[in-house]
Amino acid sequence: LYTSSSFIRSTFIDYFKDSHGHKFVKSSSVVPLCDPTVPFVNAGMNQFKGIFLDQVQPPCPRAVNSQKCIRVGGKHNDLDVVGTDGHHHTFFEMLGNWSFGDYYKKEACQMAWDLLLGPYRLKPEHLVVTYFGGDPTLGLPEDRECRDIWKGIGVQSDRLKPLGAQDNFWEMGLVGPCGPCTEIHHVNPDGTLTEIWNLVFIQFNREADGSLRPLRTRHVDTGLGLERAASLLQRVPDNYRSDLLAPLIAAVQLNAKGVDPYAGRYGADAALCTAYRRLADHARMIAVCLADGAFPATSLNLKQILRKSLRISSDIFKCPSMLPRLYDVVAEILGPTYPELVSKRKDAHLILQYEEESFKKLRSMLAKKWKDLSKAYPEVESLSDIELTGFANGYKEFKETVAKLNSTVIPGELVFKLYDTHGFQEDHIDRIAQLNNLQVDKEKFKQLLAQHRSRHKTSFKEQADLKAAMFEQAIDKIKENGVEKTNDQYKYDYTV
Ligand code: ATP
Ligand code: MG
Ligand code: MG
Ligand code: MG
Repeated sequence: LYTSSSFIRSTFIDYFKDSHGHKFVKSSSVVPLCDPTVPFVNAGMNQFKGIFLDQVQPPCPRAVNSQKCIRVGGKHNDLDVVGTDGHHHTFFEMLGNWSFGDYYKKEACQMAWDLLLGPYRLKPEHLVVTYFGGDPTLGLPEDRECRDIWKGIGVQSDRLKPLGAQDNFWEMGLVGPCGPCTEIHHVNPDGTLTEIWNLVFIQFNREADGSLRPLRTRHVDTGLGLERAASLLQRVPDNYRSDLLAPLIAAVQLNAKGVDPYAGRYGADAALCTAYRRLADHARMIAVCLADGAFPATSLNLKQILRKSLRISSDIFKCPSMLPRLYDVVAEILGPTYPELVSKRKDAHLILQYEEESFKKLRSMLAKKWKDLSKAYPEVESLSDIELTGFANGYKEFKETVAKLNSTVIPGELVFKLYDTHGFQEDHIDRIAQLNNLQVDKEKFKQLLAQHRSRHKTSFKEQADLKAAMFEQAIDKIKENGVEKTNDQYKYDYTV
C-alpha cells in the first residue's frame, strides 16, 4: 500500500540511503544508556549527541534512521496533552536524517521538500514553512539564509513565516546540542496547522550555566513524525485512525465490557474519546519501554503511566486485564520493525500481570481507608475510584481546615497545599469544592503556583549542572575503554 506506515518508513529510509548516500543506523533503546540529561530518548539525535559535541568520531558523514522516542518528562513533555488532541503521543517514531559536518541548510531543505512532493505526493499549497526569526535574549539574528533557501526552492512568501525561539530554536534538554530550526507544517482541511517535519541546524551546545557555546562543526538533525505522516497520507483526521493506532482502538473496543458497541465506539462519544486515545497511546509507550528493558519499579514515569492505564482499563472499559492484550497488538504492528517487542513478549506479560495484581491490592487498601472516612463524611460515597485515589491523603486535612473557616471560599494557600503536598489535580480541587458547596480562590492559587514554578527554575539550574557533570563522567568512561569497545557494548548508541 503506498500510504501504509511501513511504506512511509521504508520510503524515507531508502530515499536517504539509496538516493542520497546516507548510512542506516538502527534505533537506539528508548532507555538512555549513559545520558542522565533526559528521562527517555526524546529525539532521533540523542544517540548522536556525542558526535555533535565532538567527543565521539561519527560512524559516517550522513545517517538516516527511525527512532523510538518518548516525551513524558523534562524539556519535551507531552503527557498532559496526549488524548486531548490527535497528534501528540507519549511514544512515537521519529524518522530522521543527519549530516555530521557534511551537507548543511540548502541540501537539507531541498531533500526534505523533494521527498514530501515526490514520493509522498504532498501539494505545496498544503504546506507552510516556518524558520528562525531571531531572538534578542539569545543574541541571535533572523535566519535569512534559511528564508532565502526556501524562496529559492519555490516556497511562496505567504507560506513562509519567521517564528521566535519558542518554536524555531530546537533544544534537546536543559543542556545539550541545539540550534535554529525550520519546520514544515501541513494545513488541515479546517485551516489549522500540524507540524510534520523539523530540520535543526545544530550549531551550539547549551551549557549548564545557560550560555550557548558555538560548536566547532555544524550539523544537520531532522525529525519527521511517522504517526503524523501516516494520518496525513492516509487522509484520516487524527493519528488514532491511522494503521499504526487504529488496531489498538479496535482492540480496546473489542475487549471493553459495558460499552455500547455503537454509541460507545471511538469518535461517537466525546467523553470516551480521550480515554480511548490515552489507553491506545499508553499501551504503545508501555510495550516499547518493557521491550527495551525498562522496569516500572525503577522508572517513575513508566509506573505512573501504567497506573493510569490500569485505571482507564478497569474503570472506563471494565477490563482490568486489557494491557497484555494490547501489548500483543503493539507487537503485531511494530514487531517487524522493532523485533524486541516480539522477543520480550513473555517478560513483558509477566510484568504487566504483576502490575495488575499490585494495582488491585492498592485499590482494596484504599477502599478500607475510605470506609472510615465515608462514615465521617457521607459525601465521599459519591466519589469515583479515581477520585478516591487522588484524594486519599488530603481529604481529612481538607475537611478539618475548612471546618474552621468563616467563609465559603477555599483559600489559595490551602489549595496550593493540597496540590503540592497531597498531589491533588486542579480538577480534583474543583470537584471537592463542588462536593462541599465551596468556592475556590483560584487567583491566589495561581499566584502561589507561579512563585513555586520560578523557585523550581533555580533548582532546575542546579540539576542541569549535576547532569552535565554526569555526562562528562560518562564521556571519561568512553575515553578509558575506547570508542570502539563502548559502541560495541552499547550497540548503536554513539553518545557513550
Ligand atoms: P509540536 O510543536 O507539535 O509539539 P515539536 O516541535 O515539539 O512538535 P520536534 O521536537 O520538532 O517536535 O520533533 C520533530 C517531529 O516529531 C515533529 O515535527 C513531529 O512530527 C514529531 N513529534 C514531536 N512530538 C511528537 C509527539 N508528542 N507525538 C507524535 N509526534 C511528535
Ligand atoms: Mg512539542
Ligand atoms: Mg513545534
Ligand atoms: Mg518542532
